[in-house]
Amino acid sequence: MAEGDSLVRIARRLDPAILEQRILAASAPNPRSSIRTHARRLEGRRVERIETRGKHLLIHLDDGLTIHSHLGMNGSWRVDDGRGFGKPERAAWLLLETDDARVAQFGGTTLRLVRTAELARDPRLARLGPDILAPDFDPEVAAARLRASPEEIGVALLDQAVVCGIGNIFKSESCFEAGLDPWRPAASLTENEAGRLIEIARRQMLDAVETGRRPGQVYKKAGRPCPRCRRAGIRSRGQGDDNRTTYWCPNCQA
Ligand SMILES: [Zn+2]
Repeated sequence: MAEGDSLVRIARRLDPAILEQRILAASAPNPRSSIRTHARRLEGRRVERIETRGKHLLIHLDDGLTIHSHLGMNGSWRVDDGRGFGKPERAAWLLLETDDARVAQFGGTTLRLVRTAELARDPRLARLGPDILAPDFDPEVAAARLRASPEEIGVALLDQAVVCGIGNIFKSESCFEAGLDPWRPAASLTENEAGRLIEIARRQMLDAVETGRRPGQVYKKAGRPCPRCRRAGIRSRGQGDDNRTTYWCPNCQA
């Protein structure tokens, strides 16, 4: 699942492959691709900058055009390692070829070409809160936004308008490490609790960027004994309008 840490790792893989390279060929082999009819507009353009904003990936090209991508639950970006993509090419939504690399997006919820100057007006990007993985991220600002949310903590953490980049895994894992009940209203968090929760989520995600490993204390561990208190079993239940599963220990996160 592509949470913010995955996107940063994807950008780091794409950088050496296509940054400052000219796109020699661009195609959308999958008939369901949203840019099926205009992928070839990318040909001849140079990749200037690859940027992540939460779970969004932006590939900026040299003539004021940007590729805007969001992978949703099941999409992926892949780099051809010389043995292909590990998936049939005909499934690719977008396939880019440079002098010495081939990269492709498979699946996802967003793939579109947009004028770079119009990005600021895009509602999906404009509504994003501070990016938890941004170098200039300010935890105090993010903590204040979290406490201002009318939702439960587990819902507020996923609200990309509050803070962007956190997904379902880090929602549960950060609440567990912080010892906070994800079902409490976010507005009930003290300044200290909110600040600590944000710091924990950011540290967990930065670790995952570097190591590629995510904490696995409670996520998908329903029914197993809590690794901290050993007194209760990890529970799971859908939370919020989107019914995203939350994992928590009812004993030490009470
Ligand atoms: Zn416990």
